[in-house]
Formats: sequence, structure tokens, C-alpha cells
Amino acid sequence: MAHPKRKTSKTRRDKRRTHLKAQVPQLTNCSNCGEAHEYHTVCPACGYYRGQEAVTENSLALGETEKED
Ligand SMILES: [Zn+2]
Repeated sequence: MAHPKRKTSKTRRDKRRTHLKAQVPQLTNCSNCGEAHEYHTVCPACGYYRGQEAVTENSLALGETEKED
């Protein structure tokens, strides 16, 4: 079976992991209610996305979202 010839050094291992870090979520304010929410995400406070209602309290209870046509 294929096998590494040498042990990966601590330096090489740590250099590889420099990009493995927690991402700070990008926040913006809802255009409908002004509450802070993540980009490209339905506002958790009012259920609006891009200026129109995407999730209602009823659809949350049923586990459904309205379809755009
Ligand atoms: Zn909102």
C-alpha cells in the first residue's frame, strides 16, 4: 500500500492548517425590519429575503417554504 516516506513535520502540518479557522459570519441588517442577519439568508426575525416575505410563521410550523413562480 502507498505509504508516506517521511513523517510530516510539525511546521509543515501547522502551515497546512493555517487556513483551517472559524469563519466570522458576514452580517447585514434586514431591509424589512432592520434586524442583523447573515448574508444570503432569510431574516430569522421577520422571514423576509430580498425585500419579500419568504418564510411565514405558518410555513415554519409546517416545515414548508413558498415557491416562487
Ligand atoms: Zn427582518
